[in-house]
Amino acid sequence: MQNSESTKTRSRSVTGILTGMEVTMANRLTIAEKLCKGCLLCVETCPKGILALDKSKVNASGYNPVHCTDMGSCTACAMCARICPDSVIKVERDAS
Ligand code: SF4
Ligand code: SF4
Repeated sequence: MQNSESTKTRSRSVTGILTGMEVTMANRLTIAEKLCKGCLLCVETCPKGILALDKSKVNASGYNPVHCTDMGSCTACAMCARICPDSVIKVERDAS
């Protein structure tokens, strides 16, 4: 049984057309797996279709928690975080 928090990060480099300056962008998705009740609301809401229940894990409440299957496709739109009734997902868009 696992109920830890999982974090996935998407990183990519963007080169500005005018400045030539390289900026590293990293989006981060943090999932409080122990709070997830596997209701699928976020799975059905994600426009990229990259959320799914992780069948390899069961949390303390007996649910398969959600996970991200392709962080590279995450746009940090935060629709998953907004729809979740239990505030399980935290989305951070980073441009540093
Ligand atoms: S932030 Fe948007 S694209 Fe990324 S997992 Fe959530 S709903 Fe999908
Ligand atoms: S909406 Fe929240 S509780 Fe429901 S599956 Fe997604 S993360 Fe889990």
